[in-house]
Amino acid sequence: MPSSLTDLTALVDSIARTQDPEAMMQTIVERLSELMDADVCSLYLCNPQQDTLILAATQGLSSNAVGQVRLNLNEGLVGHIAASLSTLNIADAPSDDRFVYIPETHEQSYRSFMGVPLIYLRKLIGVLVVQDRDQNRYSDEEEAFLITVASQLAGTLHLLQSSGSWMQQPETLPYKRFKGIKSAGGIGIGRLWVIDPHMTLDQVTPGINSDPVEEKAEFHEAIEWLAQDLEKRSGKMGHHLPGDLNALFGVYQMMLKSPELVNGVEARIDQGDSAAWALRQVIEQMAGVFAESDDPYLKARSEDITNIGQRLLNELLQHERQVIETPDEPLVLTGELVNITHLAEFPLQRIHGIVCTSGSALSHTSILANALGIPAVMGVEALDPDRYRGQRIIVDGNRGECIINPPEVLCREYRRMIADEKRFIKGLERLRNEPAESLDGFRVKLLTNTGLLADASPGLERGAEGVGLYRSEIPFMIHQSFPTEEEQLRIYQKVLNAYAPLPVSMRTLDIGGDKQLPYFEMNEENPYLGWRGIRFTLDNTQLLVTQIRAMLRANIGNNNLQLLVPMVSRVDEMSTFRGHVEKAVNDLIKEGHAVHMPQIGMMIEVPSAMLLMPKLAPWVDYVSIGSNDLTQYLLAVDRNNPRVSALFDHLHPAIVSALIYIQTQCQALNLPVSVCGEMASDPVAVLVLMAMGYQSISLSAYNIPRIKLLIRSVERTELLPLLEEAEKCSHEDEIRALFKPIVDKALSQQTGS
Ligand code: PEP
Ligand code: MG
Repeated sequence: MPSSLTDLTALVDSIARTQDPEAMMQTIVERLSELMDADVCSLYLCNPQQDTLILAATQGLSSNAVGQVRLNLNEGLVGHIAASLSTLNIADAPSDDRFVYIPETHEQSYRSFMGVPLIYLRKLIGVLVVQDRDQNRYSDEEEAFLITVASQLAGTLHLLQSSGSWMQQPETLPYKRFKGIKSAGGIGIGRLWVIDPHMTLDQVTPGINSDPVEEKAEFHEAIEWLAQDLEKRSGKMGHHLPGDLNALFGVYQMMLKSPELVNGVEARIDQGDSAAWALRQVIEQMAGVFAESDDPYLKARSEDITNIGQRLLNELLQHERQVIETPDEPLVLTGELVNITHLAEFPLQRIHGIVCTSGSALSHTSILANALGIPAVMGVEALDPDRYRGQRIIVDGNRGECIINPPEVLCREYRRMIADEKRFIKGLERLRNEPAESLDGFRVKLLTNTGLLADASPGLERGAEGVGLYRSEIPFMIHQSFPTEEEQLRIYQKVLNAYAPLPVSMRTLDIGGDKQLPYFEMNEENPYLGWRGIRFTLDNTQLLVTQIRAMLRANIGNNNLQLLVPMVSRVDEMSTFRGHVEKAVNDLIKEGHAVHMPQIGMMIEVPSAMLLMPKLAPWVDYVSIGSNDLTQYLLAVDRNNPRVSALFDHLHPAIVSALIYIQTQCQALNLPVSVCGEMASDPVAVLVLMAMGYQSISLSAYNIPRIKLLIRSVERTELLPLLEEAEKCSHEDEIRALFKPIVDKALSQQTGS
């Protein structure tokens, strides 16, 4: 404690020379933290009514919290000092029962805490606090110094405090619109509530541990606590969730207990890393596998891993056990990544929207938001949530934008749209068990695309008639080594079980291209034209056979498995594949398993497969068109390169011709055909496909009701002449223009507008 009376006099002098109240308060906290060598020094002042303490200045806590943090007298440690008019000096503040964590302050990493009341003429005017990262009680000398400072400053601060001139007026910021990615449809209006990430994983710096045993124990404690918390929250939300959507929490549980995470962190702690630093490295490695994918679905899975890592970090830092007091009015939860567990912290009826500054439309937050009917916009990169804390915000999930500080006239217009939307959704519920059949009797089967186990239930909830595409590479990507036959068996069983007797088209491993496995390195110059899909699995026969065996065994008792082969470009690929399946069936029967031959399908993604259809037909039972890759390979447009993204369109005239050709071939060859890929979620494309005669499509679950409504609202006969016109078009925009008015009419009729 180096500070002396001279220091104190200098401090009081410098304050006396400061005119501006804000600068004066800032000088106090800055100089004091310097003098006491404290990580944090904060000044709380009573409002003139003497009923609330407001954070007036801070050195060390988030500056955004100034003016925002308001405590009742008796609330938290600061409130306790105010109520008891006595000094508090404790070594570990977060473990004190009176501690209340205030998210705005970002005070998670501070342990030691000392606060003294500021009293002038027997009246409380505020509280002065110092905090440090180390877990030590402040010395008697330091305590005496702070008490002396407080008594010296009280006289100066009293005039300021009673005038109220230091209190920040809430800033009224101008009306502003931000663009993002459409994530969950609908419109919501509420106050912007910032979800603070506390310390983010990427803020964790390299650290070493002095006691690996203790560090590991803390890590396990964090896992246990979080697992129980997830369990509790899932129970709490379960009442509000349609059906089995609670399983989303199961995904978190699975990741939380995965050996990759647990063993990975332990190994690094053993090497000397701190638990937080070990956690950051392992989570980044796991998330990186997904993040590098250019497939938006797989990319979205990295968010789940990062979310769980963030929660674990918070728990390691001991700051999750807060009770958040929400104001009464509707809230729009806003943050970098608002995750499932954040949602569970608020009464659902209060959440009128979600806005994330990162994230994608296929994240679990989107799935949940869709299921709960909460409008959501992701990837609003330009928005700084901190700047707009507490402001009114409109979330327009239909357009993928949000509006801050909207004028009243705009709010009225949006409220009218909310009422229209409610009527629209009511109409869709009615259709859940109705067939997707046009007014003139053209029936389209609506299947769903899925990957992680937990994504299965939204499809069932929305009346999916089976799974058109199960992306089996996903379980492989969250492992640290190839999953065994038994591990795969358990996963596939759950999916087949959930849908039985409805068909499930399980695609064999579509690894390669940008989808890399952490445990199997492939460095290729041109990965999209390289070792991908069936090429990779045929060359790694043991992997393919293991997967086929697991799928066949999972089908026992379910009888709804179909095997789908990705990236087919040659006839011998299908004939060899069929041979492997037949052999696996025979082997398994010999081993005593009651398996039988499933239907075998091929994906048409590579143009050569399209042109070889008659030669491929003897080896396949059905066809599934992967419109994403077919577009990429037919147009020679990288599906992930933003420079050429304007050229990527599944309604390009060449794709339209190809789709007509495939449909005609399938009819002639008597092969059932379905379209998966993003095309099946695009209303205009769906009408084009119907006109071509496609009777089965597979799409993400949340698009099913709207697409069903569209199909049920049109007459196929009115689409046929439009397709004839479309065949003459040279540009995709002309094709869109032909069908767009029908989409608009069909979808607007339902709203009654
Ligand atoms: C496709 O290519 O359209 C498809 C559905 O497969 P993926 O998106 O998984 O490559
Ligand atoms: Mg594909």
